[in-house]
Amino acid sequence: MELKENCGITGVYGNKKAAEIIHSALFSLQHRGQESCGIITGSGKNHSSAMGMGLVSDVFKPACMKTLRGHFGIGHVRYSTTGSSSPKNIQPFIAEYRGKTYAISHNGNLVNSTSLRRSLEKRGSIFRTSLDTEIIMHMIMMSRKESFIEKILDVLPEIKGAFSLVFFSPEGIVAAKDPWSFRPLCLGKLEEGYMVASESCAFDFAGASYIRELEPGEVLVIDGKGIKSILPEKRVRTARCIFEFIYFARPDSRVFGESVYHARKKLGENLAKEFPHTGEMVIPIPDSGSISAIGFSQKKGLPFEMGIVRNHYVGRTFIQPLQESREKSVRIKLNPIKEVIGGKDIVVIEDSIVRGTTSRMRITDLRKSGAKKIYMGVSCPPIRHPCFYGIDFPDSRQLIAGKKSVKEIEKEIGVDGLIYLSMESMLASIRLPGEEFCTACFTGEYPVPCGSQARLKKERFETGRRGKE
Ligand code: SF4
Repeated sequence: MELKENCGITGVYGNKKAAEIIHSALFSLQHRGQESCGIITGSGKNHSSAMGMGLVSDVFKPACMKTLRGHFGIGHVRYSTTGSSSPKNIQPFIAEYRGKTYAISHNGNLVNSTSLRRSLEKRGSIFRTSLDTEIIMHMIMMSRKESFIEKILDVLPEIKGAFSLVFFSPEGIVAAKDPWSFRPLCLGKLEEGYMVASESCAFDFAGASYIRELEPGEVLVIDGKGIKSILPEKRVRTARCIFEFIYFARPDSRVFGESVYHARKKLGENLAKEFPHTGEMVIPIPDSGSISAIGFSQKKGLPFEMGIVRNHYVGRTFIQPLQESREKSVRIKLNPIKEVIGGKDIVVIEDSIVRGTTSRMRITDLRKSGAKKIYMGVSCPPIRHPCFYGIDFPDSRQLIAGKKSVKEIEKEIGVDGLIYLSMESMLASIRLPGEEFCTACFTGEYPVPCGSQARLKKERFETGRRGKE
């Protein structure tokens, strides 16, 4: 599946190699955003920043890294789900206030940003970007509270939707999470100092040990006085994004405190229990279907074969301007091995189906490569609704399951049998006791209401996006 997460964020405090650690964390989080990236570091007295369009390896050359000094800082990798893909929208978003420098990195998507922006504009605010993130910064600086932390605490309850945030201030860093806990954000301990990151895989390369996931609505202040947690007085129903386990997060990460690998494997095992067809082998659509396919093959007792090989050096499909070249790059990316699948009945495991166009191409290629019967198992239920909390799903009209039944999809993509994992089994695969997840893209039940403004904003963004593709 080709889907894009909207961002990865990280922050470090109390380590003289802060820039290097943030840099390595952004490398580990690159799968969460490949359009742009940025780092700001500081010592309290001075700060330095570097950012640009492109991958972490393109933007941060050795000479550039040498300019980033200080014992704390924050970083960001971005894929735009709101705000266009443009240099002015690169994060961290940096602002000057009363002679001091502040910055913010944001993962998520607000559902009330249109009305917040309108009300700020009525009060005279002017905006440099189209980011939700800039709205948050304006609101914080306009708060009548005195200290930066008090201002953050004053403003966060006004913001609705998904936000995991890391702030940079002259005193240190502050991490914060929305009360629904839509997006992951975890805390790690470095040999010297602390770090936070969207996923725990960012800790491994940086040499940090995982401490815990931030609590819903928690604000974590990390500065020269140590580390201080501020929890909300009231808890609301949590709505952790279940899609982090299905597709987005890396399998070597823990998100929301749970191993992504274990959850993904369990999705495959549970899918096997509900799968009535059989074949001679199980083949994953790499890479995101691979772990579920292992669980599936072990449960079914069928051999696991890498019948499709992924070319890791092909760029993203959506930057190709013409449909023909987009299709070509989808095909170059995944190539079936004729010697493995030729003349065989196969079970293909996919993590999810969005528009259905890439699935159809892949099945066509498998047929051309000689597969006899092709059955497909999908390790989540049909995606029928858009996401307003920061994931790049199109609207229902473009989602294949938004307009077609499972039988019709089976025919459309050209498989001999198509089985989606049931909702109950998907939820049972994640071993977080008593936790509540957002499942709105499957059910249409949105845990935080997203009114017409959020829908309009998404439609406008999608129209703009299609124009660029
Ligand atoms: S709608 Fe789907 S993708 Fe969006 S936050 Fe909810 S579960 Fe995640």
